[in-house]
Amino acid sequence: MARTKIVATIGPASSNPETIRRMLAVGMTVARVNFSHGNHDSHRKTINMLRRIAQEDGIALAILGDLQGPKLRLGNVRAGGIQLNLGDEVVLTPHPGQPAMIHLPHPDLIETVKPGARLVIGDGEVEFTVAEKRSDTLRCLVTVAGLLEARKGVNAPGTDLAISSITEKDREDLAFICKMELDYVALSFVRTAEDILELRELMKEHGANIPIIAKIEKSEAIEHLEEIRDVTDGMMVARGDLGIDMPPQEVPLLQKRIISCCNAVGKPVITATQMLQSMVEHPRPTRAEASDVANAILDGTDAVMLSGETASGRFPVESVRMMRQISDMTEQAFPYDVWRRRRWNNVSTPSVTEAISAATCDVAEEVRAKVIVSATMSGNTAQQIARHRPQTPIMAVSPLERTQRRLALVWGVECVTVPSFGNTDKMLEQSVTAVSSLGLGPGSKMVITAGVPFGSSGLTNLIQVHEIS
Ligand code: PGA
Ligand code: MN
Repeated sequence: MARTKIVATIGPASSNPETIRRMLAVGMTVARVNFSHGNHDSHRKTINMLRRIAQEDGIALAILGDLQGPKLRLGNVRAGGIQLNLGDEVVLTPHPGQPAMIHLPHPDLIETVKPGARLVIGDGEVEFTVAEKRSDTLRCLVTVAGLLEARKGVNAPGTDLAISSITEKDREDLAFICKMELDYVALSFVRTAEDILELRELMKEHGANIPIIAKIEKSEAIEHLEEIRDVTDGMMVARGDLGIDMPPQEVPLLQKRIISCCNAVGKPVITATQMLQSMVEHPRPTRAEASDVANAILDGTDAVMLSGETASGRFPVESVRMMRQISDMTEQAFPYDVWRRRRWNNVSTPSVTEAISAATCDVAEEVRAKVIVSATMSGNTAQQIARHRPQTPIMAVSPLERTQRRLALVWGVECVTVPSFGNTDKMLEQSVTAVSSLGLGPGSKMVITAGVPFGSSGLTNLIQVHEIS
């Protein structure tokens, strides 16, 4: 049973039925629809196509809508770009159509940056240092030389902008995501817990309550990591922009910190960006990339993500397959025993669910159970079990298809749906049927955990060991 989950970004290279079907077959469990590109019409087609194929193939696929957030970009630059040399002087203006100047359509940024501040363009291809502010323009010096191209991202490390993390475009996209009832919504450039709370409020206006993934890609978010963690439903280590806002050498340790911060409370975490980057062009990854995927899993990530590899690369299916092959291999050597003995002691008052979940893992190990069954409404108990990384497979049983799809992002949890729980005996019977696909022989033990009485969320108080007769 594959345990690490795989998020694949859908784009021009993959938004066709054949590729989606093949990506599902080789291991995609979550599809990311990126709202930085495309429009609602094209997204609707993609989402409907994903749902249709997942349904046909009997796979519980989660769909994640990724909001662009306040991504700052340059305006238009003349065709072919402008070659800039070290020490060149440039003037940035908020007004378009000024041939001698560079268009930066963000007056708030021009207003806020101070002389000496850095402006990083794109992935760092070009860098400016602000020399002087002149009325509403900025005079800058080129500190990293390169080709300046239109619409490239602009990042101002160390400059805190007072604008909301949720833009007008994000609000429109959120309305669409709520209407389409996607399984997760990710928010880019989160800075504080308030950003998440604001998104949740906006969702309420649409009568929706979709779990939120906070994309950690700004130094401010790192400063508020635990507060953000406490209000979000999951996180993404968004290494691309994080490595622009902060020095690249800090990314590896930040990745470990973000992952561990989520593991501690059993919230899913995705490790993202450039994981198999060279597979955009090549059928095989570099050895460094293969190691990167394996190390993220050893760090405790729930899911690994593909971006350009599946959205616009030449080898979308091969990229997913390669990720699955690396994860299969790494899971065989995962230090399950170390993780199971690890107690997440930064939670001062563990809930009953947490205590039961930890005990479930211990019991499963002691009695050499073949499977842990979690009867769950929201999926929360299954998440709490998964954070201990038991070697025993975890099977969630839920009456809600929504829960089944959401668990497609959570490490180590498979989920089957049942009509409804009824009473303890019925639940037990359903659990046995649910794991029948595992082909457990007579004498095999399963550890079942559930909340009694049934049907209410947030109450897990039962552990039962069942021996298959
Ligand atoms: P993006 O986010 O792909 O939407 O930019 C991920 C990252 O920045 O790493
Ligand atoms: Mn980003």
